[in-house]
Amino acid sequence: MRLYDTLARELKELRPLDGRTFRFYCCGPTVYGPAHIGNFRTFVLQDVFRRCLETGGIRSFHVRNITDVDDKTIRDSQAAGKSLRDFTAFWTERFHADCAALGLLPPHVEPGAIDHIAQQVEMIQTLIAKGHAYASEDGSVYFNIASFPGYGKLSRLDERDLAIGKTQNTRASSDEYEKDSLADFVLWKARKPEDGENFWPSPWGEGRPGWHLECSAMIQEYLGSDFDLHSGGVDLVFPHHENEIAQSCCACGGHFAAHWFHIAHLLVDGGKMSKSIGNLYTLEDLAAKGFGAMEVRYVLIGAHYRKPLNFTLDSLGAAREALAKLAKGARALAAKAPAESRFDEVDFGPFQAAWDSLNDDLNTPGCLGGLFTGLRDAAKLEGEDAAKALAAFNRVLRAIGLTLPEEEAVHEVPASIRAVAEERWAARCAKDWAKADSMRQQLTELGWNMKDGKEGYELTPVA
Ligand code: AMP
Ligand code: ZN
Repeated sequence: MRLYDTLARELKELRPLDGRTFRFYCCGPTVYGPAHIGNFRTFVLQDVFRRCLETGGIRSFHVRNITDVDDKTIRDSQAAGKSLRDFTAFWTERFHADCAALGLLPPHVEPGAIDHIAQQVEMIQTLIAKGHAYASEDGSVYFNIASFPGYGKLSRLDERDLAIGKTQNTRASSDEYEKDSLADFVLWKARKPEDGENFWPSPWGEGRPGWHLECSAMIQEYLGSDFDLHSGGVDLVFPHHENEIAQSCCACGGHFAAHWFHIAHLLVDGGKMSKSIGNLYTLEDLAAKGFGAMEVRYVLIGAHYRKPLNFTLDSLGAAREALAKLAKGARALAAKAPAESRFDEVDFGPFQAAWDSLNDDLNTPGCLGGLFTGLRDAAKLEGEDAAKALAAFNRVLRAIGLTLPEEEAVHEVPASIRAVAEERWAARCAKDWAKADSMRQQLTELGWNMKDGKEGYELTPVA
């Protein structure tokens, strides 16, 4: 499989460093509210990446953290009057439920920052001992970016005209800061009144770790100083990943990640999602509009991961149709396959192009296109050949993590019921609401629900 590497700026062939298991890390969610579908673009693409490795016969070891100690979780847990643990446990559970709905494979390890404070303190001690970090007057500790010549390689400071020489004495004490501001970043934040009960002891006094440190500490714990790949959304390239590299390389030696996989942003209506504009969608918001998680997944994999994806509600409708079409094609193949087909794992047959697309820089839109053309080509196959093609189709489908909708049950509506429904529909069209309402009641008593649409109605048996 070939994948673009942000650091090397080229496509690279992926092979596990240890020759056995591909070990990778993804920056996980900040659990202070529900994840939005932009976050899920990143997590879904990481999931497709992993499924693709596994479908290709490469074992994976996937670590994804939970950010449960940072400016936002601390602020909002206090506003909610809850302990940081209770507050973040609630949102972590919600995140897991959303992940399950989207068909995301759970990571092999999912560590939380709150359970790795000691490791973070230890890493700071090492960084100070090696001359890469310093304590400030108030008991905070900063990383001295001028002490690490590799600083800025991933995000290309040189091309952004940012020189470390200009940063003398500039410090960034909040977890997030702007792309254009270059500064020594905070490793340990001295306790402040607004942190409430959220502080821990350290050699520099009470306080808490800065956000960037948790990933470095947990990577060292679960993956060591050399591992196969690191991933996140593009917003993490700077400063978060740049800072992780600085911390880890300086504290632990080693090369840190051999490959960097970044996913472009999901935009909504052509711009950034924002709560204040009201275009920030969660799975729950979309479910309320009648869309399922698989439809969301389909939209999220519908564009190449290196290009921004503009989300619209219309695209969910198109996804529903596409999924139904795939399901129909699969059913047609299944109908021609003998019930008792026995064969060893076969090649991808008509779905070779779909599979090849995935292995070529995770081209998910190409893969989806390949599924449709593959189904068209497979339509002429019969018997055992149809069975083999169906197996190949399902293998690619698993690699992109899609589950197809079941066929909708077709209800035989008795003529007598149909007649009542027709009469009610006529009353409704004539705006005779009283009659329409009473006839709806009549239908319910007869065991049928009548759902009105713009163009017509639908009858379903009362459950
Ligand atoms: P957070 O919960 O903010 O820590 O983000 C979790 C993941 O979602 C990170 O990998 C982010 O880079 C990613 N992310 C945030 N916003 C978007 C977006 N609009 N599109 C794609 N990925 C995003
Ligand atoms: Zn991280």
